[in-house]
Amino acid sequence: MSGVVTKLDSAISRLADLADNPAFPYRQAVIWLSSLQTAWELYVQRRQVPKFSIPFPPPELKDHLKKDTFKKAQAYGRDKITYAMANTVYSFAVSLALVYFGVYASTWDATGRFMARVGLAASRTIVHSLLWMSYLTLIQAVPGIAWSYYYTFVLEEKHGFNKSTVKLFITDTLKTYLLTAAIGLPVLAGFLKIIDIAGKHFVIWLMLFLLGIQLVLQIIFPIFIQPLFNKFTPLPDGELRTRVEALASKLKFPLAHLYVIDGSKRSSHSNAYFYGLPWSKRIVIYDTLIKDSSPAEVEAVLAHELGHWYLSHPTRLILIAQAHLLFTLLVFSIFIHNKALFEAFGFDPRLAVSSPTGGSQPVVIGFILYQLLFEPLDTVVKFFMNSKTRKYEYQADAFAVRLGFKKELGDALIKLHVSNLSSPHSDKLYSAYHHSHPTLPERLRAMDEYTGASWLKLSPQAKKQELTEQHKKED
Ligand SMILES: [Zn+2]
Repeated sequence: MSGVVTKLDSAISRLADLADNPAFPYRQAVIWLSSLQTAWELYVQRRQVPKFSIPFPPPELKDHLKKDTFKKAQAYGRDKITYAMANTVYSFAVSLALVYFGVYASTWDATGRFMARVGLAASRTIVHSLLWMSYLTLIQAVPGIAWSYYYTFVLEEKHGFNKSTVKLFITDTLKTYLLTAAIGLPVLAGFLKIIDIAGKHFVIWLMLFLLGIQLVLQIIFPIFIQPLFNKFTPLPDGELRTRVEALASKLKFPLAHLYVIDGSKRSSHSNAYFYGLPWSKRIVIYDTLIKDSSPAEVEAVLAHELGHWYLSHPTRLILIAQAHLLFTLLVFSIFIHNKALFEAFGFDPRLAVSSPTGGSQPVVIGFILYQLLFEPLDTVVKFFMNSKTRKYEYQADAFAVRLGFKKELGDALIKLHVSNLSSPHSDKLYSAYHHSHPTLPERLRAMDEYTGASWLKLSPQAKKQELTEQHKKED
């Protein structure tokens, strides 16, 4: 084990030496990479545009989509893609301006001067880092409010989805900002402090720290945070409650609470989900879903959701996320003291190794610059994650079908699709890149082919074999 650590250490320091080359044009590289990424995003979005001009629905949906609804869905999709493309261009312009005008370095200096004015010692690196991050976040987020205002009150409003009011929008925005600061700033401070204390071997300590934070958030989110935005009412006794409880006990799902959420307060989009600790789970159903579907259809949607739980999909996704985090932090440890990178963005290169004003080295700068450089890599990660979640969706559908919910699930998915005015046609590449779920025609087609015994009767080996075969078929 220690042999592996030593080898990894020397590989990292060799790579770090190679990467710390003043001749390497880091700033230009960031500009080029983010230009390429934007071109790619626009290309993919552009491919989806003509799909909204197809005058007829796909064969799987033609019996379910009224002419009028189909037209509405196409118009909604067209507006959304136009919005998305404008937003892509806008975000690119902002990130380009931040790099081009040296905003990262100038705001670092400005927050340093501010500290001197209010009498805070320059050696308080973590305070400086938090101020800088807050400032950077605010200058990017405040214009973003205009975008989300437009999305809610113009776009969603036009298509009849918006149920929010300006007052609710303002309080939501304020609450989100305050919460982000209340949670994000202490976590960032802890993150920086750990790197400061752990030195060269910060990766493992940071992983443990972030894992702990995720666990704490899992616990406090439903109890303290979500009630700030929505009202959760226990699902009243009746047919639906009886059905859901019976389903949960049949699957041995540790159902502790069953809630209805007032999703209709903001939007008429509908959904259902579960969450919680391994031994105590909550199921939440949107009031909009209950209103639009029969109890049997809601039960079928939940059979799909519980399929995710039964097949350990959330755990698998968490493991993938941890592996991604580990990779990110390891690569960061190559760039953390890169003087060339700091200098390219207008920072004093001495900041890459120590703090000229005393106190600890401001690693936050290295982290942000590193993120700028590696952000385009997220494109690949997004592809990969979506291909994973799409596989899981097929598996959860198969699970529900094998519990005998084929008809109800199909009907419920069609209703959801219709009431959410989801796009009837999807470009293949667009869908592969953007959709975490297969399209409705894909899901209906696949559901027709699921056969075999109920999941609950299969042995672990048989289950594994079935899943492997299903993977092969879908690849
Ligand atoms: Zn699902």
